[in-house]
Amino acid sequence: LDSIVLLKLGELVLKGMNRRKFEERLIGNLKRKLYPLGRFHIYSAQSVIFVEPLGECDMDAATELCSKTFGVISLARAYCCDKTPEAILARVLETLSDDMRSAKSFKVESRRSDKRFPLTSIQLSQYIGGELNDAFPECKVDVHNPELKIVAEVRDNLAYVHGGNIRGAGGLPVGSSGRAVALLSGGIDSPVAIHMMARRGLNIIPLHFISPPYTSELAKEKVLSLAKILLPWCEKLVVHLVKFTRIQEEIRSNCPEELFTIISRRFMARIAERLARYHGAGSIITGESLGQVASQTQAAIAVSEECVSLPVLRPLIGLDKSEIVIRARELGTLETSELPYEDCCTVFTPRHPKTNPRLQEILDAESVLDIEYLIDEAYASMELVEV
Ligand code: ATP
Ligand code: MG
Repeated sequence: LDSIVLLKLGELVLKGMNRRKFEERLIGNLKRKLYPLGRFHIYSAQSVIFVEPLGECDMDAATELCSKTFGVISLARAYCCDKTPEAILARVLETLSDDMRSAKSFKVESRRSDKRFPLTSIQLSQYIGGELNDAFPECKVDVHNPELKIVAEVRDNLAYVHGGNIRGAGGLPVGSSGRAVALLSGGIDSPVAIHMMARRGLNIIPLHFISPPYTSELAKEKVLSLAKILLPWCEKLVVHLVKFTRIQEEIRSNCPEELFTIISRRFMARIAERLARYHGAGSIITGESLGQVASQTQAAIAVSEECVSLPVLRPLIGLDKSEIVIRARELGTLETSELPYEDCCTVFTPRHPKTNPRLQEILDAESVLDIEYLIDEAYASMELVEV
């Protein structure tokens, strides 16, 4: 065994009785995710999850995927060796010399679950620390606030060393909060909103509205590329594509122009709710942020969700656009979101959208449409693409 990945559980350790279930879900998510990389033994012991390769596995890729798994607060790539002080020291020198050269201070921490090991934990730390001190005189011992923490752990059948934990993705294991339908547009906001809610343990069912021939095949491809970037975080994504053209044409020819966007939003919400009911999803996610555009004022938000009874989750509600952009850049979706393809909403944007719509005027405007029929027809056009 050359190396393994150690994962520390985040918030889920606080979940009392449910803890076991959270842990099992996290392990299930990891197994599915790492399956394409080779065979692994994944198990938990003393609130650490061990990811051990069985045979040839791409451990760099495995570590990368583990770092994108919600429910993990921190992780470490640990290098295995024989259970002798000399082998442990040799492995530290082999794997962590670069870190020792670049750090200004360090500390060694040892643990042993095998009490027959010849040295106590303190003796082992002193031995490794002393040797490292001689080998890297520039790097000073600092037991209180070291830049580099070297961990040596002696377990039942082997020992391993690592250079401290790196930050994990945090949050809760995907699926532990249930499912939600997410309205995914090609814009900057909705991918960020999806990432945030997957992080809170939701299984995401993405729904995207297309308006051919007003929107191009490229706009659809763009949304699928965004979904692909989100995939490692979300475990599984099946993008649901619904044709929105007919609904938009009906609204355009029969309703006041200033209400176009808000009425479209209500149709999106109704179709999202139907999909949510079908999948037993408990909420609808959007990338809306208060006051960002005309359809996101308090009054517009109230009217746009009046027609559905599921909660609408808007994780970006209190964020500035610039903050959302920072998150999108970190997430890696920004560049794709900025590609200039027309979205179904931009095609029909009114010149003067109403920012303070009253429910009654919306209901009056909608009353000329055959809402049920339009929804049935759109719903029937649904196409599924697994990314
Ligand atoms: P984004 O850039 O994420 O679309 P935005 O600032 O462009 O956000 P709007 O266009 O007003 O905002 O859309 C608000 C929200 O409505 C989006 O975040 C998304 O959740 C949903 N939405 C908009 N257009 C679509 C679409 N074509 N398909 C699915 N959902 C959509
Ligand atoms: Mg948009």
